[in-house]
Amino acid sequence: MDYDVICIGGSYAGLSAALALGRSLRRVLVIDAGKPANRQTPHSHNFLTRDGATPAQLTAISREQLKLYSTLSFLDDTALTATTDTAGFRVTTAGGHTFSSRKLLLATGLVDMLPNLPGFAECWGRSVLHCPYCHGYEVRHQPVGILANGEVGYELATLIQHWNPDLTLYTNGPATLTEAQHYTLKMLNIPIVETLLTAIEHQNGFVSNLVLANEDRVFLNALYARVPFQLSSDLAQQLGCQLTDHNLIEVTDFGATTAPGVFAAGDATTMFRQVALAVASGSKAGAWINRELIAEDLHRRLPPISMPS
Ligand SMILES: Cc1cc2nc3c(=O)[nH]c(=O)nc-3n(C[C@H](O)[C@H](O)[C@H](O)COP(=O)(O)OP(=O)(O)OC[C@H]3O[C@@H](n4cnc5c(N)ncnc54)[C@H](O)[C@@H]3O)c2cc1C
Repeated sequence: MDYDVICIGGSYAGLSAALALGRSLRRVLVIDAGKPANRQTPHSHNFLTRDGATPAQLTAISREQLKLYSTLSFLDDTALTATTDTAGFRVTTAGGHTFSSRKLLLATGLVDMLPNLPGFAECWGRSVLHCPYCHGYEVRHQPVGILANGEVGYELATLIQHWNPDLTLYTNGPATLTEAQHYTLKMLNIPIVETLLTAIEHQNGFVSNLVLANEDRVFLNALYARVPFQLSSDLAQQLGCQLTDHNLIEVTDFGATTAPGVFAAGDATTMFRQVALAVASGSKAGAWINRELIAEDLHRRLPPISMPS
């Protein structure tokens, strides 16, 4: 085997696992395609000691510290295939490499599928926001909108009104809320606009107006939106890992997937997307992988233990 562990994905979850494994004297290869989910956000928030750092700073500091561990190697590349045999795993990359390892960690994150609304992609992570815990404080008490409908729209509206009393729900078509939900939003003074949106006007990704199909232009400082997502790669499916109802990788509390020897961490395993949680899950998975490797080595090295009678 070339490595004890290959970590596919070298962002917050993958690097955190690599840190735990490097400190456990494990030979690890981290393969990373360099596209973390938050790459477009100017400032990352809600991560202790690094509140307000840029995503690039978080990665640079992590990589700088991990370089001190001589058993860790890094490759900027994309893993294309992962296969398993009795000895372990084989990974091939877009760059034409093949590597083998005893264990595999998938920390490949998610891809957000942005709607085809002019301006949306440019504003994503800057002023079109996915999470109030990450970015809500920066736009508190400012006029904001929510682009969502039905249960999701209702849930977001009742959450976001805590930060922004000047709030409008844009359902982008006929509202699909229940009567009770309509009533609650009315009581909270949250207007519902059903007119279709045609564009988001912005300066360098910072929203200035929403443009509606009736040609109204509405001034806003930020727009919250929940967009669909999918796993960044099909490696979990290639390895036969069970997925959850939300098409995330099913894992135990310590990151073990349903495929023996395959672990997963970070966004690919949870709906609650936060740097702190990705780091925590990577750290736990790293420790659990090391534990499994120790158990396997002891099993090979020690004669069967007979207990004194
Ligand atoms: C717009 C936006 C803003 C956010 N802002 C915040 C914030 O302010 N604070 C906060 O706590 N959280 C924030 N988040 C959430 C946070 O970014 C994620 O929870 C976190 O990035 C998850 O870390 P991860 O390591 O699991 O995945 P990611 O950071 O997404 O990294 C996955 C890595 O795997 C790589 N990869 C994927 N497939 C392959 C492959 N086949 N081979 C090799 N590499 C591969 C990718 O290129 C990427 O580098 C934000 C999310 C979004 C979408």
